[in-house]
Amino acid sequence: MRLTARPIPVLAAGFLLLALAPSPAGDLRGFTAESAKAQREWETKFRAIPSPDSLREYMRRLSARPHHVGSPYDKANAEWILAKFQSFGLDAQIEQFDVLFPTPKERVVELVAPTKFVAKLQEPPVPGDPTSAQQSEQLPTYNAYSIDGDVTAPLVYVNYGVPADYERLERLGVSVKGAIVIARYFGSWRGIKPKVAAEHGAVGCIIYSDPKDDGYTQGEVYPQGPWRPKDGVQRGSVMDMPVYPGDPLTPGVGATKDAKRLAIGDAPTITKIPVLPISYGDAQPLLAALAGPVAPEEWRGGLGITYRVGPGPAKVHLRVKSDWSLKPLYDVIARIPGAAAPDEWVIRGNHHDAWVNGAEDPVSGQVPLLEEARAYGQLLKQGWRPRRTIIYAAWDGEEPALLGSTEWVEAHADELSRKAVAYLNSDTNGRGYLAMAGSHALEQFINDVARDIEDPETRLTVWKRDQLRAIARADSAAARQEARQRANLRIGALGSGSDYTPFLQHVGIATLNLGYGGEDGGGIYHSIYDDFKWYTTFADTSFVYGRALAQTVGTAVMRLADAEVLPYEFGGLAETVGRYVKEVEKLLKDRQDDVRERNRQIDEGVFTATADPRDPFVPPAKEEVPPFLNFAPLDNSAGALTRAADRYERAFAKAQANGGAALARPEAAALNATLLQAERALTSRDGLPRRPWYRHQIYAPGFYTGYGVKTLPGVREAIEQKYWKEADEQIARGSQTLDAEADVINRAAEQLENLAP
Ligand SMILES: [Zn+2]
Repeated sequence: MRLTARPIPVLAAGFLLLALAPSPAGDLRGFTAESAKAQREWETKFRAIPSPDSLREYMRRLSARPHHVGSPYDKANAEWILAKFQSFGLDAQIEQFDVLFPTPKERVVELVAPTKFVAKLQEPPVPGDPTSAQQSEQLPTYNAYSIDGDVTAPLVYVNYGVPADYERLERLGVSVKGAIVIARYFGSWRGIKPKVAAEHGAVGCIIYSDPKDDGYTQGEVYPQGPWRPKDGVQRGSVMDMPVYPGDPLTPGVGATKDAKRLAIGDAPTITKIPVLPISYGDAQPLLAALAGPVAPEEWRGGLGITYRVGPGPAKVHLRVKSDWSLKPLYDVIARIPGAAAPDEWVIRGNHHDAWVNGAEDPVSGQVPLLEEARAYGQLLKQGWRPRRTIIYAAWDGEEPALLGSTEWVEAHADELSRKAVAYLNSDTNGRGYLAMAGSHALEQFINDVARDIEDPETRLTVWKRDQLRAIARADSAAARQEARQRANLRIGALGSGSDYTPFLQHVGIATLNLGYGGEDGGGIYHSIYDDFKWYTTFADTSFVYGRALAQTVGTAVMRLADAEVLPYEFGGLAETVGRYVKEVEKLLKDRQDDVRERNRQIDEGVFTATADPRDPFVPPAKEEVPPFLNFAPLDNSAGALTRAADRYERAFAKAQANGGAALARPEAAALNATLLQAERALTSRDGLPRRPWYRHQIYAPGFYTGYGVKTLPGVREAIEQKYWKEADEQIARGSQTLDAEADVINRAAEQLENLAP
């Protein structure tokens, strides 16, 4: 899995330029001058090792057969990765969990009125693409964690199926009560579509890939081009992961052999209505059979039909039945013990399971990870000893529900909470720009790494190329000025969509998600066509961006593992949090203004006067204007955070000055122990309202928008969902979180001041 839109550095106008300085030239943050010199030498050796030929051969092997959870080749790949780690000289093992993973037994989508049509639900092999013909091993097209069901009902087209689309339907006088909805992919994480449909009374949900979004409207389709062919289907999970990811039967604990399990019927994350995905080949006859209002302009896709909303006269029969047995998960975990601080862990992961052959998702991210491990094996033979422990993980079961990473994190949560310094994730990789997202305490750190990596096609540093794109894309003079002058590019915040979620949002570990992309589009996501043939024809065909990813993440891991003092920087965090506070304040004000204006227009008769009297139209009802909230606690705490960050930076500059000998003093160990708690302080044991598994108070996936990021999620959710009674409590909790963070940073600053008085 990955986000359908890759995170890009976020730029917005109207902020203050802070005096954030990159580390002085030739210097490495957190290193003494002497150790920085040795570090640079090891890093240079490291970056010379990853090889495109190795990456290609690993991909050929890992994507040779379908390898979803529970399949023979999934296990074979795990064992092969284990043997690879061991052959590199690393200590490695497989950790097994047993999880609920439904696989399809019966699937039916058919039009029963006004005409008959039976959907194919089958992706045909493509001549010249050998793995596309491995039909007996391919997981059929389906949405995992759809409840079993057999329903026949009128059809309604709901566009992307997000809450705003249902408001639009209401204006058109269309209800989905008792209907089967058909939604198109994109516009939200897919699990949101059946969730929102069920809340509006629908009895079934079909999700299809419209050619406008990733088919022929975008470009030539496979095999002539990279885009989705007529019968291509996007598989994927529809579990309610904004509640909690991982095994639905063991929330909060590792799914070990004798873990206590919920009954399947009690698992809250399984869908409430049956769901199946279909191709645009199968969708066309269903959509063409709809009558009712013509769909709003933005709802119309790329098929050669008039898009109508319904309901009916198209009537559809939908039937889903799965095998609900437990399946084994094989996480492959390798360790390089730390020489000086073995109880501080730097963790790096990518998943190895796929929906089918998965050359792009996940193998294109997995193979750089293997090259990093191979390179470390060579450096170890040459005498490199990381200060901290490095853990390399190839996760199983990411596609269904972040299963392998979540169960591993839940099983090791206490130890991780004490020891984890950072988690670095990748998932897929392609050609283009480096996307950097994650914890803002690592913003300066990852900018510094990006300044040391060469873009293989333009020969600029990947940082410079990102900066120039930020200038090109800026939508205002202020944004251009920021892109040119701010010392560091902003990194994206993380919602969810890959294995970093349990590390960041459940335990509170500083996290980065990294990958190249932006120049290699395509429509093979989660289909049988995401394979070696497609990837080596249309994506990073020479594997030079695979090498760049290995160089980028591998350098970052080494630097985090070797720095005498952890290179967290809090000025960027404080500034970003200050922006989040302003954003939620503006959100409330905008809501108040909108409701006031709409109520006024209702009184004036604007809606009824401007709707075509011959068309059905239901005017909106008047609403109560949202109350004023007191944001002062958040503003005060954001100010305290800024002061703490400034104090820390002053102490840090002093400690690192003149060769930074202070950083090598034995007392730095206590400072690192404090710093380790900095991201943890941003979590609350109580978690978010209605989903306590999510503990991070600054970043979370949206509850109703799926995997897009919510910042200050508790407060934001209260405003968006009108939970007015708990809004003050959420503001208080946000403020306490920022205070706790400021406390940790002040403590660290004091320790630094004592190191270099
Ligand atoms: Zn993936």
